Amino acid sequence: MGWSYRFLAALMLLGTLLMPQSALAAPSVRASCFAATPYVHAVDHPRLPARADWTCNGRSPSGMPPVSWVFFTPDDFARKGLEPSHFVTDISRFDRISLIVMDASGPLRSRSYSMEDVSHFVNGPKFALPLPDMQGATGLVVAIERPWAPVMAARASLEVQQQSTDALGWSEDSMLLIALLLGMMLTPLVYHGVFHSILRERYVLWQIASTASVVALITIHSGLIHHIVDLSLATTIEISMLALLVPLIFASGFLLSYCEEEAIPEGLRKLLKSLVIASALVLIVLVLPFAFLRPLTTPAFLFIPIPLTAVAIMAAVAAIRSGRRIAWLQLANWAALSMAFVFNALRGSGIAMSDGWVDAGFFGAITLHVSMCVFAVLYRVDIMRKERERVNARLDALTNLIDLDPLTGIFNRRAFEQRFIELRSDGFHALAVVDLDHFKRINDKFGHSTGDRVLQEVAAVLGGDKDAIGFRMGGEEFVVMLRGSQVQQRAEQLRRAITIRIANEVEGIDGPVTASMGLVESPPGGASSMRQLYSHADRLLYEAKYSGRNRLISERIQIFEPPSRERRMKDRRASERRN
Ligand code: GH3
Ligand code: MG
Ligand code: MG
Repeated sequence: MGWSYRFLAALMLLGTLLMPQSALAAPSVRASCFAATPYVHAVDHPRLPARADWTCNGRSPSGMPPVSWVFFTPDDFARKGLEPSHFVTDISRFDRISLIVMDASGPLRSRSYSMEDVSHFVNGPKFALPLPDMQGATGLVVAIERPWAPVMAARASLEVQQQSTDALGWSEDSMLLIALLLGMMLTPLVYHGVFHSILRERYVLWQIASTASVVALITIHSGLIHHIVDLSLATTIEISMLALLVPLIFASGFLLSYCEEEAIPEGLRKLLKSLVIASALVLIVLVLPFAFLRPLTTPAFLFIPIPLTAVAIMAAVAAIRSGRRIAWLQLANWAALSMAFVFNALRGSGIAMSDGWVDAGFFGAITLHVSMCVFAVLYRVDIMRKERERVNARLDALTNLIDLDPLTGIFNRRAFEQRFIELRSDGFHALAVVDLDHFKRINDKFGHSTGDRVLQEVAAVLGGDKDAIGFRMGGEEFVVMLRGSQVQQRAEQLRRAITIRIANEVEGIDGPVTASMGLVESPPGGASSMRQLYSHADRLLYEAKYSGRNRLISERIQIFEPPSRERRMKDRRASERRN
């Protein structure tokens, strides 16, 4: 999981780096005079406001007048020393935008655009309109008739189309950073897809949807969408509005499915669900271009997130208070999401008039939000992994217990059968069956408990070699699996060691206790089943008993490999030559 955390750290760092990029905003001319007048539709362009109607303090009047006026004065041009080619402003609906070129005596020429005329989308949530011929101009007046957002005038600017790049709106450097952010967000999308295919947990799906919606939001809000598909201004506005609030809906689903049922009180759950549905419905209505919605759309968009975010944060806090530490990550991702909406409100309300820190803040906050969501999923996956490891460790301990012989403490017959194949592939190629000679007599003569002591000493001898593993098959019969070289000598050493050890360790036995052994060596390449090897060794043991006990009889299985085709051909040619 280490690399995921590193990835996350990089993602957040990048988000933070975006913050001070405001300096990268493209050079532009901003207006210092604004006016608002009642709607007057003239054929050519609206009648200009009276001199007294203009306010020239650099701030546009708030509210939604029928006509919003922007005046780029000769001083405004002089301040920047640019020869602008385009009028640029935020996307929103309007009836008509007229660009009126002024000289000292009044309007010189003008050009008007309707929404259908807009075809030039630039970096950021903006569009550009080509300026009329500016020859002899001392100023430019812009009339925006029936704007749907109060910021259309406030955020208006004049920009120069550079020869090298056709960048207008946000700078190419900002776009590069945004593209990088998008790339980094695609990574968790992929591996969360993998997580879901393994875990089948619903919260992972919600997280995927939530990150995907943020990716869509950034693609649309940054204007990158226009490099991918051809959209009209009307469609761009509609999908921009949807894109802004959909992450909120998916993040709610993520929150509810992430915390356990009982972590969030039923009332809060229901409230959050109803708010999601209500917000979605309001959203769908607001997207429609009904004229009566004009004064409502912007404020509604700024305020819809507030109740939803507040309830989601309350739910996360409730989960934390009920002892769910993982809910801190939900609180963090919702805090970041609310910050993003605060930045968006600062932009949409016109409080922040120029691009730069509000946009950087918005992207920084939304990146932090995604990072926290990714972190939340990783954290839960990590908890699940640790839980599974604990269960596995307990299972292992239990399995070991039923694999051990209670009297001698070495592996039993079950363990032999279970581990045979694994041991073979670990190189244990030889199998010996060991049986004590006349063990019945020992029991009869010295008692059953002395017999038990003898069996324990046999087990101690068989466990003494790291390349030999002993199993008690039942009664006084044992199996030893061996690997390495000189197997036969080592097996014989073990067999003799049994007699020596019993003589040294078990008191009250007169005379030696001997053992017989049958050993089969089956080279690694040979395919022998457990049954074949075991009964082969058993036959050899029987032979050892029959020929007088206290001995080892061993055999090596030879593998017969038929000669290869080339070899056969070579041999045949050689014999033909001889004849
Ligand atoms: P042979 O040399 O032919 O193997 O003769 P043997 O007496 O060793 O063989 P037999 O199979 O006749 O006897 C095995 C004895 O092992 C019978 C049984 O009482 C004894 N035995 C089996 N399990 C245990 C045990 O757990 N503890 C003790 N003390 N004795 C056991
Ligand atoms: Mg015996
Ligand atoms: Mg026996």
